[in-house]
Amino acid sequence: MSDSDVLVIGAGPAALVIAAELAEKGLAVTALAPADPRTPWVNTYGIWADEVEALGLSPLLSHRWLDTVSYFGAGGGQVDGGDAPLPHGRAYGLFDKALLQGHLLERFARAGGRWQKGLAAAIEHDADGSSIRVRSAEGVLDAAATSSGEPAPAHLRAALVIDATGHDPVFVRRDPDGPVAGQAAYGIVGRFSAPPIAPGQFVFMDYRADHLSEAERREEPPTFLYAMDLGEGVFFVEETSLALAPAVPFALLRERLNRRLAHRGVKVLEIRHEEFCLFPMNPPLPDLQQRVVGFGGAASMVHPASGYLVGGLLRRAPGLAAAVDAAWREGLRGEALSRAAWQGLWPASLRWRHAFYRFGLEKLMRFDEARLRNHFATFFSLPSELWYGFLTNTLEPSRLLAAMVRLFGLAPWDVRWGLMGLQGREAALLAPMLRPGRQHAATFRQEWRRE
Ligand SMILES: Cc1cc2nc3c(=O)[nH]c(=O)nc-3n(C[C@H](O)[C@H](O)[C@H](O)COP(=O)(O)OP(=O)(O)OC[C@H]3O[C@@H](n4cnc5c(N)ncnc54)[C@H](O)[C@@H]3O)c2cc1C
Repeated sequence: MSDSDVLVIGAGPAALVIAAELAEKGLAVTALAPADPRTPWVNTYGIWADEVEALGLSPLLSHRWLDTVSYFGAGGGQVDGGDAPLPHGRAYGLFDKALLQGHLLERFARAGGRWQKGLAAAIEHDADGSSIRVRSAEGVLDAAATSSGEPAPAHLRAALVIDATGHDPVFVRRDPDGPVAGQAAYGIVGRFSAPPIAPGQFVFMDYRADHLSEAERREEPPTFLYAMDLGEGVFFVEETSLALAPAVPFALLRERLNRRLAHRGVKVLEIRHEEFCLFPMNPPLPDLQQRVVGFGGAASMVHPASGYLVGGLLRRAPGLAAAVDAAWREGLRGEALSRAAWQGLWPASLRWRHAFYRFGLEKLMRFDEARLRNHFATFFSLPSELWYGFLTNTLEPSRLLAAMVRLFGLAPWDVRWGLMGLQGREAALLAPMLRPGRQHAATFRQEWRRE
């Protein structure tokens, strides 16, 4: 038996962020992962530069673009309303994955955190804590006998278990409430016969679709280009579907990307890396009464309308760690400790916003390509702090509502019609926002007073 105050399962961004934060509180934290936690992460993490600056982590960016634009015109060569870029006036960055990972691992190690190697396989709870049964990374029981490196004993025990095993978590439960939409993207890092975007630029969303036929634009799912100039003649270009259930297949995204590039007279000369991106955008909240606490993809922390996660992890880990630490010092154990942790992670205001964004995404998924372009053109005409706050989930509910009322006022009629009325499961998704309960109402009152 190995004892710790908190056991964090996983070695992705979520696990490293929360493990470091908890260990820095002085708690005895063990982290469990099937492989060496220094194994490089595969995903590429982009982020608005203001988010990283607010966290004091700008040195962890590998790239930073000042020239950031989107295209919401139809394309077709007419600059006015067709090909004109919309400047965002905000810098965007790309994390240096190795630096971010190294920074978090170092914080964890410096604070006395320990690593164990193995896969969490089963869990049992009692009044004081939980016992995890561990398998070797190869799937064999009794990890101690089979794994190399720093094998975990066959059982690990902790007062609190945090599941950070990603979007398909090993222990955290969520009650499904309908199909979950996936954000899908196919991208390549490579060299091209001509710059696929303007040199030195970051393109957040290029929704121009003049490379598609009228029928495709009408009947097939809308997709956009997300692209960055990585310097020295290398670009990252990615065809992306904001969200759809079921998700847009990679084959279609690849074909769309190739056609988009060909239409602009750009040939791919060299592929250095292919990215296949697929993650759930709008899973329901986990059951906040369960003993195992989640963090990251496991706890539905992906922003349901933008897909961002990493900024949210970094901003919200201190709240969860503070809640765990306070409850721990108060002597809470078992169910009471888990409840305090879940409350720290998902306070009423964040739960309301999660419901709001899920509802918003449901609406957007019904929009055809032209309506989506009109919607985003209006959205990005909002004051910068409002669209930025929406995308990064940093607006309090009252300001979020005010921003959406403003958006409705500015939007053309086709977008307004799309936002009105309730179809499919929209009424069910709206319900948690309209019945906020006493706790939500109090949060709202506090916010209004603060403003
Ligand atoms: C290609 C791609 C690009 C993305 N780009 C962005 C982006 O630009 N910005 C952004 O914010 N988000 C992005 N995302 C979405 C999201 O940020 C990622 O999915 C993110 O990696 C989720 O983090 P996580 O730590 O919760 O889970 P993961 O990164 O999936 O980590 C899960 C960890 O748990 C471990 N694990 C799993 N099962 C067990 C077990 N039984 N026992 C022990 N350990 C276990 C795994 O080995 C892994 O270490 C992207 C996703 C993809 C796929």
